[in-house]
Amino acid sequence: MSEILLQLERLEVVYHRVVTAIQGVSLEVRRGQIVALLGTNGAGKTTTLRAISGFLGLDGARVTDGRITHCGEAIENRLPYEVTARGIVLVPERDKIFENLTVAENLEANVPRSRVDREGLEAVVYEYFPPLQRLKDREAGYLSGGERQMLGIASALMCSPDLLLIDELSLGLAPLMVLDLMDRLRGIRDRLGMTILLVEQNAQVALEIADYAYVLENGRVALEGSREQLSQNREIREFYLGQGQAGRRSYRDLKQYRPRRRWFG
Ligand code: ATP
Repeated sequence: MSEILLQLERLEVVYHRVVTAIQGVSLEVRRGQIVALLGTNGAGKTTTLRAISGFLGLDGARVTDGRITHCGEAIENRLPYEVTARGIVLVPERDKIFENLTVAENLEANVPRSRVDREGLEAVVYEYFPPLQRLKDREAGYLSGGERQMLGIASALMCSPDLLLIDELSLGLAPLMVLDLMDRLRGIRDRLGMTILLVEQNAQVALEIADYAYVLENGRVALEGSREQLSQNREIREFYLGQGQAGRRSYRDLKQYRPRRRWFG
């Protein structure tokens, strides 16, 4: 098994000193893996990504307990640029692109100043996202949702990451576009050796692409397992994949107060 690249141990995050958003979250991401964080609205997925990427501070939040380690070094409550400098890069939300800049200018804007090989990076990015090359002179404000998502991932790649953090890859995108993006992400992982931590509400998408997944409920890890384990889990099938008899009852209602379980495999 590959080395642990990122580890969260009993992490607690509090917003504005009063709202505890996640409590005792532990997870690990091994080098070269695609790991998914699943969960319903408000489960704490985005907060977890913000804690890792250092963006918590912008929302008046802090890691108040536990640890985040990257390559064995503690990184909780660091500033975003410090985390990015370590090769951990958050893919910006789709509305966080520079709408008045062209696609090429957006990519350029994400290259750290010290980096010299802009053309080399751009060539890699266009290899994985050929549609962006075709659109490189188009203002980003005119891109479709899928093209914006590509630009977000491509912009993150311009920072030469080791670990990509992606929030809601599939949200609001047509199924064919989601499949296309998943293929590209697999290519990026397989050929560039990148590690990916993906937040998804759509379990079908996540379990299609992830090697391992964690299910967050009410700020805690409720379930975890490999793709195969979770795909065969009855509760996941019923409440996340819509393959069961439980009708429209919410997974959250049924999972509340259940102890955490773990599969070793
Ligand atoms: P969603 O998919 O809806 O964003 P999520 O799983 O990503 O859900 P978070 O956004 O991390 O969940 O929210 C976790 C908890 O933290 C929720 O109870 C939410 O209300 C709270 N929270 C999130 N952002 C803030 C904020 N800026 N200030 C106060 N509380 C917040």
